[in-house]
Amino acid sequence: MRFKNLAQLKRAEPTEVTFSTLPQVIQITPYAKQKAFIICDTVDVVFGQDYEWYGYTLADSANPELIIDIGLPNNDLNLHDYATLGPARIAEFQEQLPHHLIINGWIHSHGSLDYRHFSTTDEENHRTVLDFVAARTRRPLAKREMTIEGLTLLVKDRFTDGDLAHGSVALITDAPIREVKIMETVYGSFCYCVVVGSGGWHEQVILHQERAALSSRVRVASQAAQIVEVDAGAGMTPAEMEALQEEVRTKIRPNLNPPVERMERM
Ligand SMILES: [Zn+2]
Repeated sequence: MRFKNLAQLKRAEPTEVTFSTLPQVIQITPYAKQKAFIICDTVDVVFGQDYEWYGYTLADSANPELIIDIGLPNNDLNLHDYATLGPARIAEFQEQLPHHLIINGWIHSHGSLDYRHFSTTDEENHRTVLDFVAARTRRPLAKREMTIEGLTLLVKDRFTDGDLAHGSVALITDAPIREVKIMETVYGSFCYCVVVGSGGWHEQVILHQERAALSSRVRVASQAAQIVEVDAGAGMTPAEMEALQEEVRTKIRPNLNPPVERMERM
């Protein structure tokens, strides 16, 4: 067989139809943004130093992309001094939330340290939180054509066990067919990761996960993202601030004697 040019040898691009996309920016309400920095300030006031803390970003399940609150779990030991964030602890926190609220990411503070990016430990935590929140932030993104090497087409009641031994996948139809296109759904999930520090600085990324329904192919990508304040609802009321200060007092117990290697793990 002779080809006129190499282009003829190329496989046709797989068909893909897109329905939806994953968030490219982090949307947050004024209330939630204010709350993050009030936690920082309160830690400073209560403990006399701007210690690190961590929490979860929360959304209404009807609108998973918009952070409407910050959830503060018991910070019994400083995250960085201790261990990575475990799925059991995240699940425990999710269970005590009202039913309409979901965790869509996590937020932590580097306190007064001038360390304005994510550490390796932070990145491990990103993945742990993503694995937990993926099911809750999941949506169908596209139908993508599957390329199956070794697809065997068989007709119902007209094949033998020997026929089944061939190829990687057998498609059995009720009438003979010559051509088939299989399109699988690609599901997308996301997780927000935010780090804040003294003086109001913040850095953030969005983790995107794509999972194909049939082939189970998983792709995870991390991208820097802007925080966009969405004009929804008021900021914190004085009563809410007072309640938050009390919450910080009871939930955050900083490790006052961090190990020497802390800086490396931060
Ligand atoms: Zn960190």
